[in-house]
Amino acid sequence: MNRCKRCGIEIVDVTAVCPLCETVLTTDGQKQYRTYPDVRSHIKILKFIVKLAVYFLIVLELVFLVADYYTADGINWSIITGLCFLYVIFTLFYSFNRRNSHIRKIYWQSFAGIVFLLMLDVATGATGWSLRWGLPVGVLFLDAVLGACMLFNRENWQSYLLVQLFALVVSVLLLALFFAGVTEHPVLPWTAFGVSAVIFSLCFCIGYRTAKNELRRRFYI
Ligand SMILES: [Zn+2]
Repeated sequence: MNRCKRCGIEIVDVTAVCPLCETVLTTDGQKQYRTYPDVRSHIKILKFIVKLAVYFLIVLELVFLVADYYTADGINWSIITGLCFLYVIFTLFYSFNRRNSHIRKIYWQSFAGIVFLLMLDVATGATGWSLRWGLPVGVLFLDAVLGACMLFNRENWQSYLLVQLFALVVSVLLLALFFAGVTEHPVLPWTAFGVSAVIFSLCFCIGYRTAKNELRRRFYI
């Protein structure tokens, strides 16, 4: 059995350090037992799959680069696949990491999504499709995700308030781009702004006190 000299306790579990003080344990050589489920092996398998997938994506991209170089004039379409793979790799590393809270995941995944769409637009000839419909649809998608999250996580709805604000700010920027004449169709930017504004203001009005406290806490005011 394992023994922690510092805490003066005996630990039957298979472990090298004390669960209380993390001191290295002394052992008397007797058999140890697992008294709790082994979650580590599950995490290890997941990490292994992520690493394997990332490795194959990188190899695949290298193959694409070489193929692209020899089939067309220089390199063009493999940049698009490369960007897609980068986004997938980010998702695998960030969102499959259990330590990150799901709100952080939504937040960073949206942020990376915006960068991804803009870069993809540039790579496909900078025609501005990401600003015209890519980002407005993205904002609507984010609104839908937030709505679903708040329904499932009703007691803690205020924790999504900051991401809602983020969606609202992006939709305001898209609307500004329309008024500045960068994009020509009003329907999508207005829809994105309308939906984001309704969700945010509805939450703010219904749970005024909670929402106010949450924003105060977040912005230190
Ligand atoms: Zn101890």
